[in-house]
Amino acid sequence: MGTIHELDPVTIGQIAAGEVIERPASVVKELVENSVDAGARRIVVSLECGGLDLIEVVDDGFGIAPADLALAVRPHTTSKLRTADELEWIATLGFRGEGLASIAAVARLDIVSRQAPDSIGARVRAHAQEVGEAEPSPSPVGTAVRVAALFENVPVRREFLRSPSAEFNRISSWLSNFALGYPERTFVLRHEGKDVWVMPAAGDERERLGMVFGAKAAQSLLSLDGAGASTIEGRLRGFVSAPGFDRPDRRMQLLFVNGRLLRSAVLASAWTSGYATFAMIGRHPYGVIFIDLPAHHVDPNVHPTKSDVRLRYPSQVFEAVRRTIAATLNDHAKERFRDQTGTVAGVELSFAPSELALLKEGSEELRRVGAMRVLMQVDRTYILAGDETALLLVDQHAAHERIAYESIAAAADATPSSEPLLVPQIVELDAEQSVVLDGSLELLRKGGLEIEPFGERTYRIVATPFGYGARTFDLAGFLDDLSNEPKQRDVRERVWASLACHSVTTAGERLDYGEMTTLVERLQSCENPMHCPHGRPTMVRLGPDQVARMFKRV
Ligand code: ADP
Ligand code: MG
Repeated sequence: MGTIHELDPVTIGQIAAGEVIERPASVVKELVENSVDAGARRIVVSLECGGLDLIEVVDDGFGIAPADLALAVRPHTTSKLRTADELEWIATLGFRGEGLASIAAVARLDIVSRQAPDSIGARVRAHAQEVGEAEPSPSPVGTAVRVAALFENVPVRREFLRSPSAEFNRISSWLSNFALGYPERTFVLRHEGKDVWVMPAAGDERERLGMVFGAKAAQSLLSLDGAGASTIEGRLRGFVSAPGFDRPDRRMQLLFVNGRLLRSAVLASAWTSGYATFAMIGRHPYGVIFIDLPAHHVDPNVHPTKSDVRLRYPSQVFEAVRRTIAATLNDHAKERFRDQTGTVAGVELSFAPSELALLKEGSEELRRVGAMRVLMQVDRTYILAGDETALLLVDQHAAHERIAYESIAAAADATPSSEPLLVPQIVELDAEQSVVLDGSLELLRKGGLEIEPFGERTYRIVATPFGYGARTFDLAGFLDDLSNEPKQRDVRERVWASLACHSVTTAGERLDYGEMTTLVERLQSCENPMHCPHGRPTMVRLGPDQVARMFKRV
């Protein structure tokens, strides 16, 4: 007896649907794409309970003939493709004829539709493998598809769904992103009987961008129009965020290829490479790119939900995206520079003998640091920042020391603000060190560092100054430092300077972009941002005049 047998049709249907219909948003995608293929001018998506209870998509497209209605719901039935040769020339979003069948396999499907010449429409209901007979039904021209009880018969799928509001958010963001590609059509999203948003046809494109990216973020978008000669047979347009406007992930890098909203690894890297020197490490620009290619240059039949495509000439498309973005950013930078040159001339720079100038304390230039952007970490020791007029090198350790010192001093003057360590740190000291420590325990406590004796020459650090608890406090180093500090300094200052020095980031420590930005920002708000508590400079500035001299321009 063999062990292989044929699967029953219900199981086959559910397996096939599993690839296409993963969650409510997949249903919305299939239905809205059908409406677009049907030439609809207005598409209204209504949801109940984030789509878990009901998804309804109503369009004013050309509708489905009554005779086709029951067929449309069957697997592998489509009006968009006849023969395999035509696969090369797909101009519609759908073509596999499995959207409605997949939905019917996992939900209760109800379609009402009418075509323009008919006086009355028709209705069909389908569920699992059962498809009802089409019956006459009044209907405006167009199609209304209702999908209820999603995954009622596939409980395991239900378990993978998130909360109704999370599923709603997915649908809302997919639909609004998708609508960017179809500005000449109206899209409406309703939830629990209320309009959530409306994107009117032929509205202002910037307005749609504002709805997708947020009004403020959309203002920074640069149009790609007219940038750089294209290397592709086709058209490329879109909007990308200006340097300095970015996000922690790539989610808002939207890409349309021939009207399909996609994720494409190739084009995501083209995007990154277009930004090369403009984007910060770990930050990602956002925007939307529309690429229109000849149909036979794009194979949409490589992914179950068609959310990626195969490009016939990927490297050309990559180059076109990269160059267009780079050209747009360069043009933008040139304009900005022209706008800024007046200001550059107005900045008074201070010069050291060396090519790098130390910033004068309290000078005008310092306030300009506010516009500085952190660019990168150099040698795990310095933070390179810059704006349109100058580069700034910040010594991460010296800067952090200054910040720590000022906050420790401030804390000691007010109520000490310390943070208990989750796990107290035990340290063993030598005789000399423990003498120094015993003499300064009280001052340290005022500065936020709480240390308790814990046996012979053994101590327990129970709390560190607020905000520095995450870093291991180097108590032994601190005590050595404290004994070497010039004695003429105020003992409080000495303790705090050493405390600051040993509770902060060291040279050689990798900082992420967020940490660097915070460091530079906090440094700027220090009373004396120019020097660490030991008097070393915290930053040097390289202005246009110094750069010009380095290149022997003056
Ligand atoms: P596909 O979109 O791949 O053709 P579907 O199962 O999604 O497959 O749809 C099957 C067919 O039903 C379509 O080819 C189309 O003829 C018809 N259809 C589906 N939705 C609509 C709609 N909203 N308006 C007009 N026709 C539709
Ligand atoms: Mg379809």
